[in-house]
Amino acid sequence: MSISDNLKKVRDRIASAARHAGRDPSSIKLIAVTKTVDIERIREAVAAGAGVLGENRVQEAKEKIEKLGPLASWHLIGHLQANKVKYAVKLFDLIHSIDSFQLAQEVDKQAAKIRKIQDVLVEVNISGESSKVGIAAVDAANLIGKAAVLKNISIKGLMTIPPFFDNAEKARPYFKKLSDLSTRIGSENIPGVSMGELSMGMSGDFEVAVEEGATMVRLGTVIFGGRN
Ligand SMILES: *Cc1c(COP(=O)(O)O)cnc(C)c1O
Repeated sequence: MSISDNLKKVRDRIASAARHAGRDPSSIKLIAVTKTVDIERIREAVAAGAGVLGENRVQEAKEKIEKLGPLASWHLIGHLQANKVKYAVKLFDLIHSIDSFQLAQEVDKQAAKIRKIQDVLVEVNISGESSKVGIAAVDAANLIGKAAVLKNISIKGLMTIPPFFDNAEKARPYFKKLSDLSTRIGSENIPGVSMGELSMGMSGDFEVAVEEGATMVRLGTVIFGGRN
């Protein structure tokens, strides 16, 4: 199957999951995850309508963005190191992986230097697994309250990566937990903070994530095939 066929199929699957949950399919954004994917195949995806691309690593993204030009919007979905923030704010329209106040401060500082308001999501370690990055769920509201006063970042919502399961249904409680946390933080009406976006769901579990309220699904394998 071509990338274009894969995209079509995936969009259909997102739309049926949305309708199944009584949601408007257009409220869910597809992020095509292009890590390890070469530039020709990325071009194919963009030509087939993939307008938002996700990368894990700043350096890999930088090389691709330079080659591809301003054809798509790029999101950073992987962990961000402090020494890469300077580049990240230049490259990405949305950073999904803010997980500490120090990192939020550094993003704010580097964004201010280029007179940008950087849109970000707060990454939550919803399962509490020690192997996972992300802020603990119990600390998320506090982090967001503190980061809200930073003038050059704008918090748009939450992101998570649940544990991996062969059966996507098992991820459902984690998606639901993130959605509940988002609702709870949203109800605090913290000035300047939006909880409008929920970035959750990958190739193996995105339909369940959509049913639980995802507004962004991050999909690599179902679009580009397996990675080495
Ligand atoms: C790689 C990656 C994805 C995409 O994973 P697939 O299972 O290939 O869809 C999504 N989110 C993050 C944070 C990733 O690192």
